[in-house]
Amino acid sequence: MAVWRAYLVAGMLTVSTYVLVPRGLVSDAVFLVVGLSAVVAICWGVRQNGPATRAPWHLFVAGLLSWVVADTIYSWNEDVRGVVPFPSISDVAYLGAYPVLAAGIFVLIRRRGARLDVPGALDSAIVVAGLGLISWAWIAGPIVAASDVPVLERAVAVAYPISDILLLTMLARLVAASPASSAAFRLLVGAVSVQIIADTAWAAAPSTSWDYSTALDLLWLASYVLWGASALHPQMGSLAEPAAAGPVGFTRRRMAALSSAALLPPATFLVAMATGRTIDAPVVVVGAIILTSLVLARMAYAIREVRLTARQRDDLQDELFHQAAHDPLTGMFSRAYMLRLIDGALSRGRCAERSTGLVLVDLDRFTTINDEWGPATGDEVLRETARRIRTAAGAHHPVARLGDDQFVVLVETIDAVDETPVVAHEILGALAAPHVVSGSTITTACSIGLSVSLDIGTDADGLLHQAMIASHRAKASGAGAIEVFDHHMRREIAQRAEVEAGLRVAMDEGDLELHYQSVISVRTGDIIGYEALVRWRRPEGLVMPAAFIPIAERSDLICEIGRWVLHEATRQLESWTTADPDAFGHATVAVNISGRHLADHTIVDDVAHVLDRSGLDASRLVVEVTETVMVDVPHAAVQLGALRDLGVSVSLDDFGTGFTSIGQLRELPIDTLKIDKSFLASTDPGWSELVALITAAAHACGTQVVAEGVERQDQHDVLAGLGCDLAQGYLFAPPLPAGEVLRQAPDRIGDPLSP
Ligand code: C2E
Ligand code: MG
Ligand code: MG
Repeated sequence: MAVWRAYLVAGMLTVSTYVLVPRGLVSDAVFLVVGLSAVVAICWGVRQNGPATRAPWHLFVAGLLSWVVADTIYSWNEDVRGVVPFPSISDVAYLGAYPVLAAGIFVLIRRRGARLDVPGALDSAIVVAGLGLISWAWIAGPIVAASDVPVLERAVAVAYPISDILLLTMLARLVAASPASSAAFRLLVGAVSVQIIADTAWAAAPSTSWDYSTALDLLWLASYVLWGASALHPQMGSLAEPAAAGPVGFTRRRMAALSSAALLPPATFLVAMATGRTIDAPVVVVGAIILTSLVLARMAYAIREVRLTARQRDDLQDELFHQAAHDPLTGMFSRAYMLRLIDGALSRGRCAERSTGLVLVDLDRFTTINDEWGPATGDEVLRETARRIRTAAGAHHPVARLGDDQFVVLVETIDAVDETPVVAHEILGALAAPHVVSGSTITTACSIGLSVSLDIGTDADGLLHQAMIASHRAKASGAGAIEVFDHHMRREIAQRAEVEAGLRVAMDEGDLELHYQSVISVRTGDIIGYEALVRWRRPEGLVMPAAFIPIAERSDLICEIGRWVLHEATRQLESWTTADPDAFGHATVAVNISGRHLADHTIVDDVAHVLDRSGLDASRLVVEVTETVMVDVPHAAVQLGALRDLGVSVSLDDFGTGFTSIGQLRELPIDTLKIDKSFLASTDPGWSELVALITAAAHACGTQVVAEGVERQDQHDVLAGLGCDLAQGYLFAPPLPAGEVLRQAPDRIGDPLSP
């Protein structure tokens, strides 16, 4: 059992023996033992628990010791001399203890909360004033008024309730300033409260009846034990630690205490009337005035607090709104707020003869500026750009920053069709001058897209989207361009949306099909494999991939198509192999994979899955990616490496149309290189030298070479002369439906490893 609890139990048991022992020396000895035990407990508790602040506890020891001395003198007078003089030296010791104990509590209060806690102080003042009023009305007042008693006796007698009020004041402050309480705290508050209750009961009705005085003795003894237990409690150190400075709210308990205190004056009158006792009416009235003033002050403070909180909340709301409505870097409006402004302008435009236009400014190569000069310079360029756009746009046209390097100006006017391009040209001119940041000159360029609301159906999102499409078009046509979103773009978008929706249906309804174009060994003329090329069967005929693959590539639809092609092509080759193992046993199938699908985290699993499902050997699948993918797709090499780890081959399609230099070939994770058909189609007689160069470089890196688009025998002869490995083209066969491929069951299929 914890020491404090053991002491509390033992102490209370000792206290209960008090009623059993005979009055006189024995009972007084119990009193002495319990009082001294409390003093020792505090000294021991301070030693054991080592509180950071010892002063309050030293003061408590002094106060309790003073009481023990007083008890001893009192008992001596009572038991040995048989007469207790009043006042006596024991009263000096009793009364002397109160200020010392109050000082101890005061030190605790100071340590707990250094700040001036006005509501807490007012609350405790109200409680003290209320209880002080009763104490004066029932106890101190009558003592003072007893003119037949000598002055010294009256002064000493009245000093007791006054001392209790002093202790009570400190106690109320301590409780009011400490929202969170520990067990040590509760024990201490219990000790002081029990002491005050016993004192007050004794002062209100001093009686020598055995029951009554024993009951009061029990309370005083219990108070000693509670002081001791509080000091022994391990958390006693926390009593002097600063309390969490939370706001002092109106808890239910606090409200009950305050309203009871405020009701005390009328209650005092009522009790006096009922019992027929005379009370000092002016004192009660003054007390009532003081109490009412304190309660009013407390209310005023509470109202002020509420107002302050409301103002703080409003300020916070304003601040939050400002943050949400503005871009922190440039101070311009945010995208979200601009959308609201556009919405407002559009609805005004519907009622009045006004139109709404947007000027979307997109800085070109801004990432390069960030990379080259660092983000701090990048930020400065953005701030300066924002300043220039704001000036060029004029005060009437709100400007927002949409994202990293995109700004939009709202032009709400009589004729936005005419005015929007004017604003755009102003901005273009303003941004043409180079920026000078920390001594460096940085040149920027921008592309501008314009959109104007021409029908009432357009919403803010739609108008912004149109301006963005126009800006993409502007970017594509070169730096410094301005493009207007027009009917042509609108039609294009509508068509694109239609194709995309149609493709999704085609996927579900099985309207996609694969055609296969044979790949030939240049040396032997044997077919070594096929390339799978997707077609879309529509009522009006076959649609070629160029008409729908670029649209599918704008969304994850391309990944779905890719998965289907992988599945269908592997399934088909496996089925041909089963039908004619001699002809197809070694053939490969090449599947085109788009950059978006290669970048997708599912690609490796997708390929592994189709191999698993079809049962096709991994070495018979070729994955074709275009050369541009190596630049556009981050981690392309890593993904291709992972695919090769599965055992499939990788072919670099359309080589020569991207930016890969021949020197880079060695680092690329590829097995085959497909020279783009534009080389062979070229009328430039130098094409063969270029193909020779590429072939030699590829061979030096251990890479096979395929020539695409072979249409004539002379092209084939040149390729044979250059040592090109494989060829593909109409000269050998066009892409054919699967049924045709099987019908023309090839007798010219060779082993791809020995072309
Ligand atoms: P690619 O991968 O370079 O495919 C070769 C293209 O050249 C095919 O066009 C083919 O029909 C055509 N071709 C074959 N021999 C000759 C010839 O002798 N002369 C000429 N001028 N052309 C020839 P196709 O089938 O229209 O496919 C075009 C492109 O569409 C493909 O180029 C490929 O990039 C893409 N594609 C086709 N199918 C798919 C697919 O399933 N997925 C993905 N992502 N792209 C595909
Ligand atoms: Mg291809
Ligand atoms: Mg190609």
